[in-house]
Amino acid sequence: METNALAEIESRARAAFLGLAVGDALGATTEFLTPAEIARQYKVHRTMIGGGWLHLKAGAVTDDTEMSLCVARAIVAQGGWQLPAIADNFVAWMRSKPVDIGSTCRKGIRDYMLFNLLEQPYSDNAAGNGALMRLLPTALYTLGDDALLTRCAIEQARLTHHHPLSDAACIAFGRILHAALRGADRFALHALARQLIAEYPVFRFNDYRGHAGGYIVETVQTVLHYFFTTDSFEACLVGIVNQGGDADTTGAIGGALAGAFYGPEQIPKSWSRKLNPSVAGEVQHLATALARMVPAAKAKAVSAVPLHD
Ligand code: MN
Ligand code: MN
Repeated sequence: METNALAEIESRARAAFLGLAVGDALGATTEFLTPAEIARQYKVHRTMIGGGWLHLKAGAVTDDTEMSLCVARAIVAQGGWQLPAIADNFVAWMRSKPVDIGSTCRKGIRDYMLFNLLEQPYSDNAAGNGALMRLLPTALYTLGDDALLTRCAIEQARLTHHHPLSDAACIAFGRILHAALRGADRFALHALARQLIAEYPVFRFNDYRGHAGGYIVETVQTVLHYFFTTDSFEACLVGIVNQGGDADTTGAIGGALAGAFYGPEQIPKSWSRKLNPSVAGEVQHLATALARMVPAAKAKAVSAVPLHD
């Protein structure tokens, strides 16, 4: 692959991880609010002000970014995929008393701590968005290798969430992120979204009703609806976080996708400058390191999706 194609991928990778953190921090303000409550309080929420039910400082991130950092640090530190290293980082993170943690994530981390369990048993209650919210580092690491993506996406998901809808969403988003990182256009990304819907019609989003909860189906619909009905990083994220519900998580997932697709120039400086500086620095560093891994797989992947001019 040409040097500038690799540089382009690294730049999109950094924008994706930065976008994830920005979306998390922006959405935390409106998490659990309804669109009407958001409109009453903020008219349109579009400023990095923190607050929300967690009473955050402006630019502070939550579990979505922190768990993504746990995954990314483990892959980079190990120089590859070591699931126990990821689980160990989750344990250390949980012991640090994070500002928020989902109940399904807590159970999975606890079961690893107590029983060394690396795969949760299937559960009807595991159809939350907790595995998808931290998928990005796995997608960056596996770029160009669909079989590796499938395996790693499911392994990291089932540390806490073992449900077919969560698995399917993680694999589909991994593929969408891979294509976006390689410069695919929105038609190619939409075709990948339709592949998910062909297999699991429940994810249809063309008649989006505005439900934006933590159920994986609502999360996927919210992110895809706003990504495909807007034409900038900012418009996509403003749409998502003003939908409320699990706004930090839909913001994080949408931020990762929009960051990969639009690249770093489109992330508003008024948002990225407000982001917690140590988080901003670390996501840039880890994204670059992840994008530089498995270069052989990346090199053979370039022809699969046409790059746009
Ligand atoms: Mn969160
Ligand atoms: Mn959330």
